[in-house]
Amino acid sequence: MAEVINGKLVGEEVVAKVKEATASLLEDGGAQPGLAVVIVGEDPASQVYVNSKSRKAKECGFHSEQHTLPAETSEADLLGLVEKLNADPAIHGILVQLPLPAQIDSAKVIQAIAAEKDVDGFNFTNVGKIGVGELDSAFVPCTPAGCMILVERVHGKDLSGLTAVVIGRSNIVGKPMANLLLAANCTVTIAHSRTRDLAALARTADILVAAVGRPEIVKGDWVKPGATVIDVGINRVVSAEGEKARLVGDVAFAEASENAGAITPVPGGVGPMTIAMLMANTLASAYRASGKSSPQF
Ligand code: NAP
Repeated sequence: MAEVINGKLVGEEVVAKVKEATASLLEDGGAQPGLAVVIVGEDPASQVYVNSKSRKAKECGFHSEQHTLPAETSEADLLGLVEKLNADPAIHGILVQLPLPAQIDSAKVIQAIAAEKDVDGFNFTNVGKIGVGELDSAFVPCTPAGCMILVERVHGKDLSGLTAVVIGRSNIVGKPMANLLLAANCTVTIAHSRTRDLAALARTADILVAAVGRPEIVKGDWVKPGATVIDVGINRVVSAEGEKARLVGDVAFAEASENAGAITPVPGGVGPMTIAMLMANTLASAYRASGKSSPQF
């Protein structure tokens, strides 16, 4: 049976390190890290995410601001707020919760966030830096950054000689994940909905990352014996009428565990790492703004 990678525990370790590094930055006369989280409208799932990010920022000793704007907010008003936050020296990280209401062009808003405060890593400057392997000065998107830490817990930092298959090519997970694996010397293939014989391809992977959004699409026999399986998927499923929805990943966990060497569960795997890496990115931003090099995670 596979080793179950405890993302909750690793996430807590990252947060503990962020807390410590925040305190030592302040002691050295540096800035208190500041995170501004912006939400437009009242989507309940987004509210939950935003509240937990603000809460975690406070727990880390950050200055934490939450800007809740009405659903009918115009694009110009939101861009105005982003501009204000870009210019605010107390803020080192700006996060605009997606999705945004239809009247607002999300891409325009994301690109308006100053690259040095883009702790989500979605701005073209950060995407470009990751593309060319300039990881030290980039903000790496939080989910793939968290996945890499979990991979490193199993394989160390140098993945030379290993083969990875990333299923999913989104800009926020699949593509940056593939670039991070490549930067760590892995041989990487990106698969997607047009890939032929996905099962056979997946079976070639020493490291298999599923970021698809399809409940349990990755079956046990897609997993090479001994492989490390990172399940990014978060899918709400109802097995029987009237039953409470439960969360499952993109990997059929029980079957895959029989073949894998190590595997992340859902929940409790990649999810807690995402928020931890948001804190790590905000901390890094405050260190950079204070002219110091930030701790590595
Ligand atoms: P996305 O933008 O919808 O991308 C999904 C990718 O999967 C696409 O590239 C798509 O291919 C591919 N795909 C869809 N159906 C497929 C199939 N049958 N076979 C092979 N590939 C297929 O999703 P995302 O934002 O990357 O998120 C993926 C999953 O991760 C979701 O469940 C999401 O909730 C979860 N997620 C979790 C976290 C976390 O913190 N744990 C963070 C972000 C996302 P095409 O490009 O060809 O359409």
